[in-house]
Amino acid sequence: MTQITPQPGIMDIALYQGGQSHVAGVEHVIKLSSNENPFGPSPKAIEAVRNSAGTLHRYPSTDHAELRAAVGERHGLDAARVVCGVGSDEVLQFVAQAYAGPGDEVIYTEHGFSMYPIIARMAGATPVMVAERARKVDVDTILAAVNGQTRIVFVTNPGNPTSTMISDAELERLADGLPAHCLMVLDGAYAEFVDGFDGGTSLVDRFENVIMTRTFSKVYGLGGMRVGWGYASKSIIDVLNRVRQPFNLSLTALAAAEAAVKDEEFLAFCQAENARLRVWMTGELAKIGVPSDPSCTNFILARFANQTEAEACDDYLKTQGLIVRRVAGYNLPNALRITVGDEEACRRVVAAITAFKGGAA
Ligand code: PMP
Repeated sequence: MTQITPQPGIMDIALYQGGQSHVAGVEHVIKLSSNENPFGPSPKAIEAVRNSAGTLHRYPSTDHAELRAAVGERHGLDAARVVCGVGSDEVLQFVAQAYAGPGDEVIYTEHGFSMYPIIARMAGATPVMVAERARKVDVDTILAAVNGQTRIVFVTNPGNPTSTMISDAELERLADGLPAHCLMVLDGAYAEFVDGFDGGTSLVDRFENVIMTRTFSKVYGLGGMRVGWGYASKSIIDVLNRVRQPFNLSLTALAAAEAAVKDEEFLAFCQAENARLRVWMTGELAKIGVPSDPSCTNFILARFANQTEAEACDDYLKTQGLIVRRVAGYNLPNALRITVGDEEACRRVVAAITAFKGGAA
């Protein structure tokens, strides 16, 4: 049989490598590899999912008006400037599909989220990776890489897998320095973990070419539901809605996300527990010679002497039923990314790394 050839460039698209969730031969694992919320979603979101069962024969909303209103209310934003997607992945894809094509360049940073080059190629554009400086996005390096073909710059703030952040002033300098033909996408997947950080909404309000994206997969504990949103000018939102499928979000996903965003009490609990356990875990690991940058997220980038030690530690953790993430593919071969779990998970991971390092477990 002859094989049908796909469109040019399709076979250059890398397959996304997600966090592992099983270890062969180990029955009970603690998964700390995908930055999920260890407390799950709000109980109100679970109730909303159950309640949605009675209307599953109906098509869902096409304009997501209720979810957008709830998001707008929670963040003090104009709901007409919000677009919702199947995870923030889909919102990022809308941006690439609508604004970049063959011959265009899409900039992302050295340790940036691995979906950026994938979605750039899905749009037929060329991804261009630029270096970071000491595990932080570097504005000058980005600006030096921008040329007449650059259409999009993706910046994660706080970064994944680095967990570091750049200041509002630096973000503003980047937005200010970009030419008018170039969009800046501020990926705020972890913004809720940073006290007092607006994720970049004020920057969106000041610069016509800035888009912010957010997700329900992290602090809201709804990774399995696949809901994300973007905030931009009315004209950009109008463009993004034209490449969006009318029924992209299921009725169940919409109900869950709406209930989750309204449950401020549960959100505050998750934020506080994450902050407390993150500080504790960072401190304990530092004491046994495993440093990490101060984290602004729900994970820690633990650094080891070299790649061999990082991989040996990862192998050992797996034997203990603890799954963390190797990040060599993000140009961080000496590090492991560890999601901040609940108290038991954090204690177990610290004890296991202590044992690995040769101390008392
Ligand atoms: N951006 C970043 C930086 C992420 O880490 C993730 C999830 N790993 C996403 C976007 C996509 O999240 P989702 O599609 O689940 O909303």
